[in-house]
Amino acid sequence: MSLRSFFNPRSVAVVGASRQKGKVGYEIMVNLLAAGYAGKVFPVNRKADTIEGLKCYPDLVSIGETPELVIVIVPAKFVLDVMEQCVKIGTKAVIIITAGFKEVGTEGKKLEEEVVRVARRGQIRVIGPNCLGVIVTATKLNASFGGDLPAAGSTGYLSQSGALLAAILDTAKANGIGFSSLFSIGNKADVDELDLVEALAEDPNTKVIAGYLESIGDGNAFVRAAEQISHEKPILLMKSGGTAAGAKAASSHTGSLAGSETAYECMFARAGIIRCESITQQFDFAQAFASQPLPKGPGVAILTNAGGAGIMAADAVERLGLTFAKPSKETIEKLAAKLPAAANFQNPFDVLGDALADRYEYALDVVLDDPNVDTVLVLLTPQAMTEAGPTAEAIVRKAREKPDKPILACFMGAAKVADGVKVFREAHIPQYESPESAVATIKAMADYVRWRARPERVVKLFPVNRRKVESIIERHLRRDLMEIGEAESKEILEAYGFATPKGSIATTADQAANIAQQLDYPVVLKIWSPDILHKSDVGGVKVGLKTDQEVRDAFDLMMYRIPKKQPDADILGVLVQEMCASGREVILGMNRDPQFGPMMMFGMGGIMVEVLKDVSFYLAPLTGQEAKQMLMSTKTYQILKGVRGQEGVDIEAIAEGLQRLSQLVTEFPQIKEMDINPYVVSRPGTTPIAVDARIGLEK
Ligand code: ADP
Ligand code: MG
Repeated sequence: MSLRSFFNPRSVAVVGASRQKGKVGYEIMVNLLAAGYAGKVFPVNRKADTIEGLKCYPDLVSIGETPELVIVIVPAKFVLDVMEQCVKIGTKAVIIITAGFKEVGTEGKKLEEEVVRVARRGQIRVIGPNCLGVIVTATKLNASFGGDLPAAGSTGYLSQSGALLAAILDTAKANGIGFSSLFSIGNKADVDELDLVEALAEDPNTKVIAGYLESIGDGNAFVRAAEQISHEKPILLMKSGGTAAGAKAASSHTGSLAGSETAYECMFARAGIIRCESITQQFDFAQAFASQPLPKGPGVAILTNAGGAGIMAADAVERLGLTFAKPSKETIEKLAAKLPAAANFQNPFDVLGDALADRYEYALDVVLDDPNVDTVLVLLTPQAMTEAGPTAEAIVRKAREKPDKPILACFMGAAKVADGVKVFREAHIPQYESPESAVATIKAMADYVRWRARPERVVKLFPVNRRKVESIIERHLRRDLMEIGEAESKEILEAYGFATPKGSIATTADQAANIAQQLDYPVVLKIWSPDILHKSDVGGVKVGLKTDQEVRDAFDLMMYRIPKKQPDADILGVLVQEMCASGREVILGMNRDPQFGPMMMFGMGGIMVEVLKDVSFYLAPLTGQEAKQMLMSTKTYQILKGVRGQEGVDIEAIAEGLQRLSQLVTEFPQIKEMDINPYVVSRPGTTPIAVDARIGLEK
């Protein structure tokens, strides 16, 4: 069901309207009327005849016509009755401001479920309960007690915290920032973040979708929808609180390395959502996305009247990995022709401290024409002769004349630049308090542009032996075995095209030596026990054994020592394994997030993974591009490519391993977490080997 009635209702009833100052029912009435809403307003209150000069009705039924939107403010115990009345008169959109539902405990939760049941029966969409209300500037609908109607703008906002929304409204008012609409979603009994993001995506007055979320209901549906919407409109989210998965103890490397924020970070990366760290940053980003064209390329130009400010901005450009636009010969010549000789004709372009508006205007014009420049940041510090107001006007003029490239302003200071800042606010040129915040905004725009330009996602499917894996997993689950050890994990990996070292289990020293001879020396001995997850920790791995005697000794030593170290461990024997050629050890892993599904991990492997923590995560299923991106976002990548004369390893083969693993965990939701550690990789053209692996299951 569409949410249009919340944006553009022909009439509104306020159930629980009040004449008493300070009461929510009064504030909402006053806000609604003061904002200039053009539709009919029906106050509903048993005890009043008129409120704010409007006829008051004892209940919804007595109005005699159907209000398109009903705002409910009555105490929680009366809300069900109001809902029943809504069903009777046929209202399809209800905002429940009232608190005292799910947020107060079991009783409240039950009541909330009742409300939803009635709503479903009457095909009514409900926002709230326990919310601040809804504001839509286009229709001058202020159905909230959050504050005055803000200026019109093109950012649509949804917030899971009502109080935060009030703070946002206040900040926006002080800075003249506009909104298309604001939604307080409260307990999300019916309408949730996904419904609203979708509604804002459809809303013609909204160019930018912004929000504050504490939780996401259906993670998978949200990712899918957000990914679609991000192609049309940027989504800027502030998110607090991680997922539960990260918080609880995990037995795999991957599980323990996935922080509570990892799943959200993965989800944002996949869906092209731009994460904001604070309200200020969200405003910074929203302003630029709402008012400026997207940059066509990475080149940033800085125009300044102060060397110091220019350097601060340049440092930020460097730090955030943006590109410093190199001016064309023509640009340098044109600038040199009209600017004083002491000016800097290179990026950052310095027009000097005595620059008046005309010099800024000329330089901006030249810089905007340079094909290497994709975004311009104009900095200004108020020096003795600086004309902040006229300079801002000149910049606005140029922005109108040449509207293809984003222009951001950073007039530093306060009192002396106030005139200029005002000009920018009115003309919708984003103005920043610091060069750093402006550059961070340019970075957000550049990242978004890159995300939108990424190739279409094609997930490669490898031919595999699914039946084999199915039978191993089923066998474990039937016996309530939730861990698959090294040997069977490797069978699973082989079924998905991985190479693993040869080897078998020995229960006596002689048998171990026999197996070793057949495998050929050198060999590796590993303790074999379902209770030992990290074999090295208990002295359960011995590599590079070259003779029968060494194998026998190693066997005896393990059998003697390990039961002492871990007396409760059920030791089944020792795995004798061929020794792999040396190479780099990386880790490929997966941890399943309850909301967003399997998250793949790549990183520096071996027994030091937790110490080095050089890992990256991405949501499965992976495309080839994404797998490579995962590699490239670790420091290990530099080593893998080859560093200081050392030969590199087969990058493509690692990326393929990640994709195969991604296919495995996507096809088997019973796999909760897994590691291949180490995955030994060497020279291009050689096959990587899954030396150790473990799989954790869930039902
Ligand atoms: P765990 O992680 O349980 O301690 P592993 O099987 O991963 O045990 O072995 C620990 C380390 O020993 C590996 O990181 C690797 O460096 C080395 N190793 C283990 N098996 C082999 C093998 N077959 N060939 C070469 N090196 C090995
Ligand atoms: Mg290991």
